Amino acid sequence: MENKKRKANSSSSGNNLTGIIDYLDSELKTTQIKDYSCNGLQVQGSNSVKKAALVVDACMEAYKIAVKKECQLIVAHHGIIWNGLKSITGSVYGHIRYLIQNNLNLYASHLPLDLHPQLGNNARLASIIGLKKLEPFGLYNGINIGFEGVLPRETKLDLIVQLLCRKLGGECTVLPFGKDKVKRIAIVSGGGGGELDEAIEKGIDCFITGETSHQNYHSALEAEINVIYAGHYYTEKPGVQAIGNILEEKFNIETEFIDVPTNF
Ligand SMILES: [Zn+2]
Repeated sequence: MENKKRKANSSSSGNNLTGIIDYLDSELKTTQIKDYSCNGLQVQGSNSVKKAALVVDACMEAYKIAVKKECQLIVAHHGIIWNGLKSITGSVYGHIRYLIQNNLNLYASHLPLDLHPQLGNNARLASIIGLKKLEPFGLYNGINIGFEGVLPRETKLDLIVQLLCRKLGGECTVLPFGKDKVKRIAIVSGGGGGELDEAIEKGIDCFITGETSHQNYHSALEAEINVIYAGHYYTEKPGVQAIGNILEEKFNIETEFIDVPTNF
């Protein structure tokens, strides 16, 4: 009964927050995916959303831009509440206070937005490089967060690096220890260096992740596998950008990606 009432309000009086949050929670399977990020609506603000900001990291710099751009909702890949909220002090207090003072909603989606088969960071990265026949890859705490697949033809490693740099906007660090031309590729966005072992075991030609890992160097060299680090920030832009597109389509609101790169 309570739910029905809220939904009726949301469609009739410009109060569309509930509809947007319900849609995101359902599409991203927010409550079903185990994560140390507390995914979903983390801080509640305005009930009416006319414009949404998409960000990789929930941070003061992004909030201030969102306020200037007259956004009522921020969708972030990295939110501010991790492993549950134990106290509202320090930087978390500062963030929550600023968001509430400015009537801004903050919605976070971490692993659900890495692994989503269409909107997720890894699915979008696979699409950028034209990877086909996607299979789950990157077992992390019991769930696969990435994808592996094959390119339609063997492709020079350099071309894939150039494509990633161009499309994501960052710079890649490469460990070119495998074949010059690659076909089987595995992807884990963000800090996925720990999944290199799985790529080696599976005989992948090239492993793509975000953040560089000192620990990967000798493992990659000895296993003769190529590794591309395309940036933690840069590999996690495509997911929130895809969320922006779908919110525009489904809810007829304006959206804007707010670019605050960390260069990691
Ligand atoms: Zn991340």
